[in-house]
Amino acid sequence: MGGFHRPAEDGSPLIAEDPFQFTSFELLAVTQDIRNQEKANEEDEAEHAHSLLDPHENRQHHQMEYSGGEEYFDVIVVGAGIMGSSTAYHLAKRGKKTLLLEQFDFLHYLGSSHGESRTIRATYPEDYYHPIIAESALLWEQVQQKIGYKVYFKSQHLDMGPSDNKSLQSMIASCLKNSIPHRVLDSRQVSDEFSGRIEIPENWVGVVSEMGGVIKPTKAVSMFQTLAIKNGAVLRDRTEVKNIVKKVGGGVKVVTTNGENFWGKKCVITAGAWVGKLVKTVSGLELPIQPLETNVGYWRIKEGNDNGSVGVDYGFDGDFPTFASYGEPYVYGTPSLEYPGLIKIATHGGYPCDPDKRPWGPGMPVGALKEWIEKRFVGRVDSNGPVATQLCMYSMTPDEDFVIDFLGGEFGKDVVVAGGFSGHGFKMGPAVGRILTDLVLGGEAGVELKHFKISRFKENPQGNVKEFENQVTLKPKLRSRF
Ligand SMILES: Cc1cc2nc3c(=O)[nH]c(=O)nc-3n(C[C@H](O)[C@H](O)[C@H](O)COP(=O)(O)OP(=O)(O)OC[C@H]3O[C@@H](n4cnc5c(N)ncnc54)[C@H](O)[C@@H]3O)c2cc1C
Repeated sequence: MGGFHRPAEDGSPLIAEDPFQFTSFELLAVTQDIRNQEKANEEDEAEHAHSLLDPHENRQHHQMEYSGGEEYFDVIVVGAGIMGSSTAYHLAKRGKKTLLLEQFDFLHYLGSSHGESRTIRATYPEDYYHPIIAESALLWEQVQQKIGYKVYFKSQHLDMGPSDNKSLQSMIASCLKNSIPHRVLDSRQVSDEFSGRIEIPENWVGVVSEMGGVIKPTKAVSMFQTLAIKNGAVLRDRTEVKNIVKKVGGGVKVVTTNGENFWGKKCVITAGAWVGKLVKTVSGLELPIQPLETNVGYWRIKEGNDNGSVGVDYGFDGDFPTFASYGEPYVYGTPSLEYPGLIKIATHGGYPCDPDKRPWGPGMPVGALKEWIEKRFVGRVDSNGPVATQLCMYSMTPDEDFVIDFLGGEFGKDVVVAGGFSGHGFKMGPAVGRILTDLVLGGEAGVELKHFKISRFKENPQGNVKEFENQVTLKPKLRSRF
């Protein structure tokens, strides 16, 4: 039996730090929409808070209603990673009676949303992510202000790769089209910009953009769960959902493996690497979402490259950027933050697996990565091998785009599914939670979601057609599955 997750309900002191400079992001119409919506939400929240003058009373109300039997909720969210936790927060903030169910312990390390760092960046080859990223960047700022601790550490972001790389070219075109501030630099300019700490070949370009940085994943998930509870949500861990059944007359019954049932007017499935399995059980639909096991590696920064403690030059204090290197292998990394003297550098990809029968290794091959590190970091990072690694799960779609849609069929718009975040969803968690909330409550997302529809795979098993290559390294066997 799982327990209620109820952190202390202290006040939420504001964080005193520089506000993020969005520059021309603020030109995006979505920004104003978010502000308007946020204002409306603040008013809702104030109204909600007013109606709950005694938070203990509210909490007791839910506890009394939730007695271990069959309970009724406005919305039941299945899966407490970043997507489910953010959704539960948004729903509860709107005053909806919300239940968040998680099969393992809260903040476990078996899915996709755990660990020490996730990159946030605005530079995407696909146009349609820009409104979601812009909204999320604002929400990360706003929500961390509410909790009173920091989950979002800002830095510049550096993309790099061969100048004829189509993804890179598409990303630059998309930045221009969407007024994302960026500078395209040649190899000498990259060397100057980062004082020789990172070097690229002469036929490469570097693209420096202002909106980069690191989100602390476990801390961020905890933040949304805490704020969901503060707004009245009920959170339950160690409760695996076995099935979701349509009820005659409306609503759904959520059946768990420990024998408890919950009733919801609506349901949101945010089950990460398990989403395919759960959706198949619930509706028979086969989503082309392949779980991959992958890992990140931490590499030692050699001594003598900074003015004090090892790694400062490659850390936030040294203004080192988050970075991504296009081509094969696609490499990404973050400034030194979580482990002093170490820097996270990893390849984007993974091994297909069953999330319930994990291989727990061998981890991504590092041969090409070692060479990349030795050359790009000009011998200043020890390229013999990572000194620490951490395993994690990706949920891959064939086109690397998300699935955010109604389940349809007999469930119509009562059940919304969000999955297939394909190794790049974390940064967008706050906006995805808002989108899922609007979808499940009112049927509209407020942003264009056509690229995330399930039906795209009926039209083309490979999903959205792109004029550039995929970024994640997959085995051929995996590709042919879709
Ligand atoms: C190594 C690595 C690096 C990454 N780097 C980045 C990055 O730099 N930037 C970025 O934006 N993104 C990044 N990502 C991707 C990002 O972390 C994921 O897209 C995101 O965490 C997905 O969140 P989720 O909530 O969908 O899945 P999860 O976090 O896995 O959450 C799903 C939850 O549902 C639960 N669940 C499943 N089935 C059931 C059930 N039947 N009943 C109850 N609960 C259930 C699971 O236990 C799990 O807790 C990275 C991912 C990895 C693995």
